[in-house]
Order: sequence, then structure tokens, then C-alpha cells
Amino acid sequence: METGKIKGPMSEPSRKYSPETEVQFVKGIGPPLAKVLAKLGIQTIGDLLYYLPRRYEDRSNFLKIRDARAGEYVCVRGKIIDVNSKRTGGGLTLIRAVISDGTGTVSLVWFNQTWIKARLEKHNGEVIAYGQVQEGNWGYEIRAPEWETIDPDDDPENFARITPIYPLTEGVAQKSVRRAIRRGLAYLDVFDEYLPADLIRRYDLRSVRWALEQIHFPESEGAQASARRRLVFEEFLYLQIALGLRQREIGLKRGISFSATQAIVDELATLLPFSLTGAQKRVIDEIYRDMRREHPMSRLLQGDVGSGKTLVAAAAMLAAVRSGYQAALMAPTEILAEQHFSTMHSLLRALGVSSTLLVGRQSAAEKRKASQAVESGTASVVIGTHALIQTGVTFHKLGLAVVDEQHRFGVMQRAALREKGIENIDVLVMSATPIPRSLTLTIYGDLDLSVIDEMPPGRKPIKTHWKQPSDRAAVYEGVRKLLQDGAQAYVICPLVSESEKMLAQAAEQLYARMKDEVFPEFRVSLVHGQQKAKDREGAMESFRRGDSDVLVSTTVIEVGVDVPNATVMLIEDANRFGLSQLHQLRGRVGRGSKQSFCILIASATTKDAEDRLRVMVETTDGFRIAEEDLRIRGPGDLYGTKQSGSFELRVADLLQDGRVLEEARQAAQTLLERDPTLAAAENAGIRAQAESQRARLSQTDVS
Ligand code: ADP
Ligand code: MG
Repeated sequence: METGKIKGPMSEPSRKYSPETEVQFVKGIGPPLAKVLAKLGIQTIGDLLYYLPRRYEDRSNFLKIRDARAGEYVCVRGKIIDVNSKRTGGGLTLIRAVISDGTGTVSLVWFNQTWIKARLEKHNGEVIAYGQVQEGNWGYEIRAPEWETIDPDDDPENFARITPIYPLTEGVAQKSVRRAIRRGLAYLDVFDEYLPADLIRRYDLRSVRWALEQIHFPESEGAQASARRRLVFEEFLYLQIALGLRQREIGLKRGISFSATQAIVDELATLLPFSLTGAQKRVIDEIYRDMRREHPMSRLLQGDVGSGKTLVAAAAMLAAVRSGYQAALMAPTEILAEQHFSTMHSLLRALGVSSTLLVGRQSAAEKRKASQAVESGTASVVIGTHALIQTGVTFHKLGLAVVDEQHRFGVMQRAALREKGIENIDVLVMSATPIPRSLTLTIYGDLDLSVIDEMPPGRKPIKTHWKQPSDRAAVYEGVRKLLQDGAQAYVICPLVSESEKMLAQAAEQLYARMKDEVFPEFRVSLVHGQQKAKDREGAMESFRRGDSDVLVSTTVIEVGVDVPNATVMLIEDANRFGLSQLHQLRGRVGRGSKQSFCILIASATTKDAEDRLRVMVETTDGFRIAEEDLRIRGPGDLYGTKQSGSFELRVADLLQDGRVLEEARQAAQTLLERDPTLAAAENAGIRAQAESQRARLSQTDVS
């Protein structure tokens, strides 16, 4: 034991214990409490001590009730002077406990939790309550407070100066968790220090045992911060090592050495009416260097909407084809696959490269024809959705897969490819949603990164306006003027439902309104996810050609759609969309040299919605939007993590802990440089931890 403070059952042979020991064997826990802890997902001593407080309360310093003010979050302590309950008009039971600390009184209020009344009536001591003070009919009250009773024989741990407050679930009391953790801390010596001494010194880290003790019952705020930093660091370190080991393994495999040369880029460039941007040239160069190596490429190409990723993909595919291989391009939606096909097909044909489209909605005959072309190799490039590699298509000689991931998939594909036994091909993942670096390093830390950080020249920044629904008529008039000047407009139907069918209905209604009432003098067309492929392609194609002026659509056009003459993006009920979704939709305009507009019709229904709309008006910088999105939504929902299973960090917070992540990444690289497979005895512990991270990663499809 490092600190003398915790008195554990030193007489016990705790060496037979390990972090994997079930909590029921901890002295003072036993099976009943273990059962309660299981509700929180706590099975082992390791789970227990890594179950971290949500926040802390400084209990040496309760607020005097007299000083409480409406709107503030307060922690108060007082004697119960009255408990009562009554039925409200709405059939609810309202429980009210009035507490006093001698300076004033405040009510604690609960709805329908009649058991609380019984508990409090039996209890004739004090309670501690935390929550937001509100003005009620009977003076100040705290509704649905966090609370606990103070018993005369209470453990002193409940009154440590800084008291941990744990996340709870139904049927688990704060005190039980605290008690269990205190018992668990007696076994701190089962936690070995896996980090090498020089690393601990270099990054000024505390020991794991100290950190685990102080994270639960900190001596001071400073101690809590140091404890947390140590635990965040180790979590990131193990993850970065797991990713590093994976990257190394892929890098060691024998792959294809393509002859990717400057001549191929030049050949492509001659077909373009513009020259490549510096950033495009640079990332093509990075990709070509990877492709020439005789090991598989695993690279992430990031670039904001409109930065010109498609051409980079074309350059990579052309290099594969010129080296005698096939290339596949996989998009997240059929619409996008169709769109990619229509751009790529003409470009590639001009270069003498045959390509084919293969999507689920084609007729059986079309699909058969496409599959045959892929199988026999008469098609050098095949474009489809991710189903391409998950269905029974056999490739003649696949050498490169480009995964246009947008924000839907990407990593599962690699696993599927592996299953098909063609894992040694080169893989280029493209991401249109700029994601914060911290998230990139966590989710895609095993990919090499190329970033397009420059927009094609001559673009005018999109003007974004947020309008109230009451301004609709004026907005439509404004759009009418633009249409009269030859612009084309998208009108996006609100996200009324998760159901594709209901979305389609809403889109049909909006279409009818636009066509018959709002813009009767213009040509209006419609796309949504439930249309027959032919109808949808027809509508897209006519909009692309300029044969229709207004395209009413659901978010099926969210990603990738590219019609440079379309300069108006009108989003109905924009408050219903997420921030990155709004950014993607806005990215459909501003793609040519004309001034573009994005109009968000919305009333701010929630604080979050208001934040999103404000950010949209303030900036078009995708990276800033991604950071804001992370801040508003939290990382759990973000890019990739949701769709590909939720990989959750236990301690670290991607928003707060970016600096520690950079340090841990650097430390991981240093460790792996010195000992690439972590074979040294002193690294065995780290390796075991990293392996278990890898297991978690692959379970959640992020590997
Ligand atoms: P992304 O896929 O990154 O969102 P695209 O590849 O669709 O962007 O490109 C957006 C638009 O910019 C397209 O109309 C494309 O033709 C055009 N474009 C791409 N590269 C350049 C460039 N270097 N100069 C001018 N326009 C470009
Ligand atoms: Mg290669």
C-alpha cells in the first residue's frame, strides 16, 4: 500500500485477489450488495474501483438555506420538520418534505415516489439534498433532488470533506456505492503499476493506487485533478497502444505495390477544366506513396464538404486500374453511389476505364450484368454501397477499396473484406464530416491521416440566415427572386420521423405545396428514400441538368450530391436536424462561383436547438462545427461511434482531455518504437491492458 490512510484487511492474503476478483468476495460487500452493484455493471474489483464519481460535494461547507436563491444548484443539509403527500388534479402523488437548518426552510418535492415518504417518516435525523432551487407555491423548493439521509451511526466516509457522488440507477443508493468503494479500496494492492517508471516521471503522473484512492475520496481538488489525469492518461495510452499494434500488424502484411506515378495524376488533370488545389496534390502524393509500398494502405482522407475529395478518390482508383487491378468505391447511400457513378463514369470513360454501378435497387437483370462485369474483370471500377462487399459479389482482382464513409460506416467494411480473404488490399476511407482531432485519434488512431485543408479557389462563402416560421412567406418571396435569376434551390423536408415511410409522406406533401401553391410557375421535382430507383435517378438527373428549378428532398441528399448551379438551400423546421446534418445539407450549395444561400426556417424549441442554429449562422468552418457538435451532443452520439456500436471511454472526456490524449499518444509511440510488440517483460502489463482494449474495440466494430 502506498498511502497509510486506507486500512485494509492487511492480514488477508489479498495476493490471491486480483482486479478480476468478483466483488462479492470483497470483505464487507458479500452477495447481496454485489447484486446491487451488478445493476451498475460492476462485477469485479476492477469494475468497482474504476466506477468513478460523477461529481463531488464539498461537505465541509453546506449552503445556509437562508442564502439559497431560485435558479441555483445548491447542496443543503437539514432536519426534516414535516413530510406530507397529496394527490394532484392530474392523478399524481406529490411528496413534500420540509427541511430546516436553523437559518431557513426549503421543501424537497417528489412525484409518485411514495416509498420516499415512508422512508423519511421513519428517519428522524438530517438529510442532505442537492438540486436546483425553484420558486414554488410554498416558498423555495427543490424538485426531484439528489438526496441521502444521515444516520447517527453513519460512516464518516459520507462526510469526508470532499464527498464523491456516483451515477446511480434505480434501486441503488448513493451510500451503498460509496460503502462498496470504500471496502474495495482496501484491495488497492491488487492493482499493479503497469506504467514504466521513466514514463511516470516524464509525464509527471501519480501512481495507479494513489490515483484510484484519490479519485474516490480526494484530499483536495488538486489531488482529485491529478488522480483523474493519471487515469485518463492510462486509458488513452492503452487505447493508443492497441491502435498502434493494429496499425503495425496491417503495415507488416504483404500487400500490393501499385505503380502509382505522377504521370497518372497528369493524365487525370488534362481532363479537368480547373487545376488541382495544392491540398489535393499533396494528399494524392501521400496516397500514392502508400500505394507504391508493398504493404496495404490504411488511410483516412478528411476534407470538409466541397473540398474536392472525389477527384482524389479518382486519382487513387486510376492508379490501381493502371496497375492492372480493380478498384471499388463504396458510398453510404444508393443516391450517393448513383451520383458518384455519374461523375466517375464519364471521367473514367474519357480515360478508357470501364466502370459499373451495382446497387440493391437495380433490376435483377441489371444486377446480374454488373456482377458479371465485376467477376470477369471487364469492369475495372465498381461503384456501389457498402453492400458491395457484404453481398456475394466476387471480384476479379480487387486492389483498392475507397470507402466514402461520410458519417455512417467505414470500419465494418474492413472486417467484411477480411472475411472475404481480400484484406491485403489498399483501403482509403474518406470522411466528409470533419471530426475533432481528439475523436479521430481515438476512433481512427490506426489509420494514417491525410487532410484536405484548402477549398477550391473562387468559392464565395455561403450566406446563412435563420428565419422564424412566421417569416415563411417573405422567405419564399426571396427564393422566388433568386429562381427568377436562374438559380436552382433545394427545399429540405423536416425530419418528422425516423420512419422512411412517414418521411416520404411528409416529402410528398411538401412537394405538393411547393409545386401547386408556393412556386407554381417553376419546375419542381421530388426525391426521397422510398421512390423507385428509376424515379429518383430521373429526378436527380433532371435537377442536375437544370431541367428542374426546385428539388424537394428528404435528407437523402445530405451527403455528396453535387450540383454547382444550385445555390439555395432552404431547410424547413431546421431545429429538428443535428448540427453536422445541417452542415452537410448546407454543403450541397456553395459549390460553384455564384453566391449561395442557406436559409434555416426554425423556431428554437430547445436550448440545444438554438445553439445549433446560432453556430450555423456564425460559421461555415467544418472543424469548428464538429467541435461545437461534440460540445452540444457529447461524444456518445457523434460520428461513427453511434452507428458502429458505442465505444465508450470510461474515464476520459474527449472534449476536456485533448491535451492528455496527445501526451498519451506520444508516449504510446515512444513505447512502441522501443519495443514494437511489447515483448519485454516490463511491458507485459501494458500489453495485456492494450489487448483487452483491442477486444473492446473489435466488439464495437471500431477496430
Ligand atoms: P467533396 O466530395 O469533398 O464534398 P467534391 O469532390 O464533390 O467535394 O467537389 C466539390 C466540387 O468542387 C465539385 O463540383 C468539383 O468538381 C469541384 N472541384 C473539385 N476540385 C476542384 C478544384 N481543384 N478546383 C475547382 N473546383 C474543384
Ligand atoms: Mg500498397
